[in-house]
Amino acid sequence: MRSGQSKLQRLLVFMGSAALFLSSCRTPQSEVADSGETAFASELGVEPNQLTTVETVSETGAVVPIVKSKKPNPKAAGIFKQAGQLGARVTEKGEGVWLIEKGKRRFELREQSRQAILNGTVVYLNEVFAEKKGNFALSHSDFEYTLRPALDPPEIVLRSKTVVLDPGHGGVEPGSLNRSLRILEKDLNLDVSLRLQKLIEENGFKVVLTRYDDRLVPLEDRSQIANRSNAGVFVSIHFNAAFNKEASGLETYLLTPQNSALSNDDIIGSSEPSNRVNQTHLLNFEFGYRVQSRLIVDLQRVDRGIKKARFKVLKDLECPGLLIECGFLSHVKEAPLINTPVYRQKLAESLSDSLTSILMTGRIVSSDQ
Ligand SMILES: [Zn+2]
Repeated sequence: MRSGQSKLQRLLVFMGSAALFLSSCRTPQSEVADSGETAFASELGVEPNQLTTVETVSETGAVVPIVKSKKPNPKAAGIFKQAGQLGARVTEKGEGVWLIEKGKRRFELREQSRQAILNGTVVYLNEVFAEKKGNFALSHSDFEYTLRPALDPPEIVLRSKTVVLDPGHGGVEPGSLNRSLRILEKDLNLDVSLRLQKLIEENGFKVVLTRYDDRLVPLEDRSQIANRSNAGVFVSIHFNAAFNKEASGLETYLLTPQNSALSNDDIIGSSEPSNRVNQTHLLNFEFGYRVQSRLIVDLQRVDRGIKKARFKVLKDLECPGLLIECGFLSHVKEAPLINTPVYRQKLAESLSDSLTSILMTGRIVSSDQ
């Protein structure tokens, strides 16, 4: 300390003189006060705008200056710690919206909601983002398997560059349907898969289908076909239907990581050592994000988001896997669109573009690794 005064003493001297300047001649003197404030802020190692000055008059009439540093919401400690672990920045935007940023990735959270937004694409959390034990934080699973890959995309390492496509349903199992248009999901799934196979093969990659015609393949056999083919990526193709006739748009499903429904005890920045984080789940998220965001842009349909479920067809895979619901056969406008070969070709082209870019950027892991 140069002068022997404490920082607090010098702060009081500085604030006292600033208060005097302000009470006498505001315009020129406030400039003096501002430059003094800048110097003082730099001495404290903070930005000038982080100093908030408040003057109060005590009972004795003396001016009592108070300096407050702008502090984050004390209830934000958990989410700040989690973002900090990823080297990301948190901004509380107000009205219950929080922004977490790293590089080009922007992850927006909404209080009391499971719906988050990653660079414009809807992402569903396993648990509502809410205050627990006086703190806002993501659950362990949402931190490790959603926020982490969202802000810190994993390196793409694949077992192979073979794609296994899985046209859902088949044979005696039609899937969803639209009676008036006389269309069955199983036929549309196969049609899109065959178009997609052709496009990916044209780009130079091997494709295996779990069925090439109208037959029922048991769910456990579908993942086994992928595993036997040493698949690098598995994509199951489906179309939706709902009692709610308003429902429309596309959604991409990832396998829910095990033990992800955790208790309230497991919050505030807790994290497994990274070697225990399942790399396949991180790749599932990255692939799901790339595929879903591209589909929404290419097809201009409603973004129903990236969701997680424990689908049997994804459960036993030894490679990353996605299940894509490509639209609603129950929607009055979407169903006729899906019924056109032009639309299904667009779907296949979009999927081929995102899958090809994943395969091209992917590195093959050697089998002994
Ligand atoms: Zn289906």
